[in-house]
Amino acid sequence: MHQLTPYVPGEQPKIRNLIKLNTNENPYGPSPKALNAIEIEAGNSLRLYSDPSSERLVNAITQYYKLKPQQVFVGNGSDEVLAHTFQALFQQDKPLLFPDITYSFYPVYCKLYRIEAETIPLNSNLEISLSDYLQPNGGIIFPNPNAPTGHGVGLGEIEMLLKKNTDSVVVVDEAYVDFGGESAVTLINEYPNLLVIQTFSKSRSLAGLRVGFAMGHEELIAGLIRVKDSFNSYPLDSIAISGAAAAIQDKTHFEYTRKRIITSREQLTVELEGLGFNIIPSQANFLFVTHPQYVAADLAADLRVRNIIVRYFNKPRIDQYLRITVGTDDECKTLVDALKEIIKNESNHEG
Ligand SMILES: *Cc1c(COP(=O)(O)O)cnc(C)c1O
Repeated sequence: MHQLTPYVPGEQPKIRNLIKLNTNENPYGPSPKALNAIEIEAGNSLRLYSDPSSERLVNAITQYYKLKPQQVFVGNGSDEVLAHTFQALFQQDKPLLFPDITYSFYPVYCKLYRIEAETIPLNSNLEISLSDYLQPNGGIIFPNPNAPTGHGVGLGEIEMLLKKNTDSVVVVDEAYVDFGGESAVTLINEYPNLLVIQTFSKSRSLAGLRVGFAMGHEELIAGLIRVKDSFNSYPLDSIAISGAAAAIQDKTHFEYTRKRIITSREQLTVELEGLGFNIIPSQANFLFVTHPQYVAADLAADLRVRNIIVRYFNKPRIDQYLRITVGTDDECKTLVDALKEIIKNESNHEG
């Protein structure tokens, strides 16, 4: 186990009054209907084991996306769904393909399950170009929109890939799709090798409840269920099943909060561009930004001093970028004011 390199999540500081723009959490609370369902569930019935097949939640997802229950798999956060996917669907003699800059849990699962991987570089605009994935492989996975860039690929490009890549499983990790991307879930009836993974953590503001799900052909789902039943029969507790089912049924809260975040993202983009930042057009609830005159790591440290945390990745190609979660309008304003001050001070030093 010495060879394992664990995933390092964004900081979850214990200090109060921090503006936390580092882990893409939703600044608005979960659906009140979800909270109510959770409260009702938190009673004497917790002495019983939860439903091992999470039927109530599977049915709610089935209704929302007009699928059959055999096409839906739920897990303890999409990280767990991803882990089972790597183990059940990517154990091949050819390498798994994913972008060089992407969700950093993918290489971690490759090591854990001893899956050979080959990274495909993003193009010079830091975009995924799916035509680069047309080569022998034991599976393909990418987030859409990608993390940490926020760039999304269109359904046309995904369909092109699925038409040409028919011998291995293609996984689209749609953690951020509700903030402006196009979901590939509409393609699963046509392409039996497509698996779409989503989460309740971002657009439904339930990161702490730990619920994720996968949608795809029933044979892919059966493979995931086999691994799950060999690992943990009750990955979702009763509270998570009830809360998530109520959350996906509450379309009003979902639409209202996600639209607010999209509006704030567009506003924040304009303001940061006004300060000289270059920004990759984002379809997610975060911005990936770089400033031609300022060192990204220094900006992150200067913001930290002002009680604002953003995510900095000390990695090749992206070490001059910051990933900033879109917060409430107040939080965005505090961020912009702090950056104005930092930039002004630094120019004074230079002058
Ligand atoms: C946040 C995130 C996840 C993990 O979501 P959980 O459901 O909270 O485990 C998966 N993939 C990507 C790309 C993410 O950003």
